[in-house]
Amino acid sequence: MSRPIIETKGLGKDYTMGDVVVHALRDASVTINEGEFVAIMGPSGSGKSTFMNLVGCLDRPSYGEYFLNGENVADMNDNQLADIRNRLIGFVFQNFNLLPRTSALKNVELPLMYAGVKQRGDRAQQALATVGLGQRTHHKPSELSGGQQQRVAIARAIVNDPVIIFGDEPTGNLDTRTSVEIMALFQDLNDQGKTVVIVTHEQDIAEHCKRIIRFRDGRVVNDELVTKRRDAREELAAMPPPED
Ligand code: ADP
Repeated sequence: MSRPIIETKGLGKDYTMGDVVVHALRDASVTINEGEFVAIMGPSGSGKSTFMNLVGCLDRPSYGEYFLNGENVADMNDNQLADIRNRLIGFVFQNFNLLPRTSALKNVELPLMYAGVKQRGDRAQQALATVGLGQRTHHKPSELSGGQQQRVAIARAIVNDPVIIFGDEPTGNLDTRTSVEIMALFQDLNDQGKTVVIVTHEQDIAEHCKRIIRFRDGRVVNDELVTKRRDAREELAAMPPPED
């Protein structure tokens, strides 16, 4: 049986703004097992980022329990959170978040550097090959298209062999075809066993995932499996080739 990678029990986050308490996340009990591919959806302000920040070990909850890969995270201090992030999580962001004056290869090497790995080049090269960029390792981000930059970011996310990849609107800045290409890459990684969780506003992007969790007013209001899943690889094969 697959094991839980993410397990939250009654997880919550409150923000106090003067006299007002904002219940950004309320009582979220969510289990995500190894090999799942989950889309987090919901209107603006519904708690998606708060949930992602907590399960991504970027922030600490106000209450509740959180186990990541069996490790109890809710009470960890900042150093412990940074350590568990480096070991277990790969992040992909809407704006790619690459170092601008640094080659693709060096960008991908960064998580290895933080982890104290000495032999980095081969592993970074291999991660870039996995995302189809094996030939462009010395290009800087400005010399790459948006889709290619996001591939570099995905290579950076997988280079440490994390147990889970988080994407915060990973296709939010990309055109339709490029978005489908990025979803194809996530589907490939998921087929290879990686657990993937993304936040998205777009229903058609979410339908490439296997499960959709919807938030509203800080609560999980819906959690269901995708019945008619889109296959990005098939969609790409049916699209006309790119113009340039
Ligand atoms: P979403 O990602 O779905 O747009 P968020 O998780 O960002 O939603 O926000 C949920 C609620 O928490 C919103 O009402 C937001 O204004 C509030 N919130 C988020 N972060 C903070 C913060 N640092 N301080 C105060 N309120 C916050």
